[in-house]
Amino acid sequence: MKVTKVCCQSCGADLDVDESIRLVTCNFCGARLEIVHDETTTHSRLLQELGEKTDRMAGEIKVLRLQNELEQLEREWQSAREGLMITGKNGNRSVPSVAGSLFAGGMMIVVGIIAMTALSNISQSGFTVLVPLIIIGIGVASMIHGTSKASRYETAEADFTKRRNEKLRQLEEAKREA
Ligand SMILES: [Zn+2]
Repeated sequence: MKVTKVCCQSCGADLDVDESIRLVTCNFCGARLEIVHDETTTHSRLLQELGEKTDRMAGEIKVLRLQNELEQLEREWQSAREGLMITGKNGNRSVPSVAGSLFAGGMMIVVGIIAMTALSNISQSGFTVLVPLIIIGIGVASMIHGTSKASRYETAEADFTKRRNEKLRQLEEAKREA
């Protein structure tokens, strides 16, 4: 067993340590020390510093984890968003809006009313009001359907924004700590 002298980094006391030993507790102050064998010298290092290094690494890992979670959240929203969007006449996808569906449904109702008025001037039979009534019915249904789609989109978007902001806040906090 080869004994070497090291100086305690905490209290400065000289300690006799076995060269094969990596960790030692100072007899005088009780500090936990790591024995570092360099090419030229042997010295001690306080384990507390090691702890700080480990904390810093844990902090960096936390930042990476949060960045991954944030990207995951954004990918999930992109695919959920795709399913919540509506397809227009020329095939392009767009975000459903309350105003847009009220306008489209309203237009159909207006067309139905105009048709009903025109047709009832020509003939008084019940059949002539049937087609305009169907048009008005479809207008009302598309208003209801459209606004509910729009509100589902808005709810999902608000939920995503809230979760994203929370994740961003956690990330900022982790970056400050790291
Ligand atoms: Zn000591």
